[in-house]
Amino acid sequence: MSKALGYAARDAATPLGPFHFERRALRPDDVRLDIRYCGICHTDLHLARNDWGVTVYPCCPGHEIVGRVAEVGPAVRKFKVGDTAAIGCLVDSCGTCDQCQRGEQQFCRKGYTLTYNGKDLPTGDITYGGYSDHIVAREAFVLRVPDKLDLARAAPLLCAGITVYSPLRKHQAGQGTRLGVAGLGGLGHMGVKLGVAMGCEVTVITSSESKRADALALGAHRVLLSSDKEAVAAAASKLDLILDTIPVTHDLEPLLNLLDVEGTLVIVGAIAPMPGYHTRSLLRGRRSISASPIGGIAQTQALLDFCAEKGVLPDCEMIPVQEVNHAFARMEKADVKYRFVIDMASLR
Ligand SMILES: [Zn+2]
Ligand SMILES: [Zn+2]
Repeated sequence: MSKALGYAARDAATPLGPFHFERRALRPDDVRLDIRYCGICHTDLHLARNDWGVTVYPCCPGHEIVGRVAEVGPAVRKFKVGDTAAIGCLVDSCGTCDQCQRGEQQFCRKGYTLTYNGKDLPTGDITYGGYSDHIVAREAFVLRVPDKLDLARAAPLLCAGITVYSPLRKHQAGQGTRLGVAGLGGLGHMGVKLGVAMGCEVTVITSSESKRADALALGAHRVLLSSDKEAVAAAASKLDLILDTIPVTHDLEPLLNLLDVEGTLVIVGAIAPMPGYHTRSLLRGRRSISASPIGGIAQTQALLDFCAEKGVLPDCEMIPVQEVNHAFARMEKADVKYRFVIDMASLR
């Protein structure tokens, strides 16, 4: 066992504060990572406050983790001490079911282990995340961080990045794909950057005129203001794929009408009931509605490699861990461009 220091929520109402706990002793295929940076995801806020009714306290969040390998178990092959490495949303899965076999650990039939608020498979112990000084995880769930990737900005790729990268690959986004990105927050800004890097023609769909300049600065080719009726009518059937990153319940119909024949709307932002839509919006053009969570481990590695090669990095606002509660409050007002990252050196 090793003594760890983190930041955790003790209950749903109390702000996060310092938390002393123990990490497990290394198993043969374990890696210990000293954490340098951890991104703040909306999930962290929801789980810290028990918004979904599944939180086990104390809750030490964080699943956008980058750092340096500090120790490896005797069976570890991929990593050595000093390597730069990362951990995302998952730290384990059964490894034997059909979904694990095809590299889609996020769909493991027997249940995966979340990086925090999950259950360690061998012991049932609750897992603690990246708002901490170090973490221990199986080598198979630890990712290589290419040298070219700026470590201070790489963390949000581990959740926000893979959440939009996975459907872009699934739907074969590439040169000339007419991609719509609805919403311009943490996920949306990654959707724009990755879409542009893949050669897509990117349209940002937003309700807020104030985001126009930001969208264009991120590389979007055009901006569609959802309140501009004329522009919306002119944009009908002009998109092949839409990443819907809007984080709350919203009407899908206006987005469906922007899709061309065989177009797909992929929901990645909201975990919420959606109002109904007329099936005519799908029938006319054999359009589809889909939804997508994170990606598997191999695909997350492919994302890190792609971002290193193409120079794609999230826009981050670095904070010390002591400001995490303030950051949560600002996230609730969508007051961040576009992802908070905690500098874990602030912990000591
Ligand atoms: Zn997340
Ligand atoms: Zn499995």
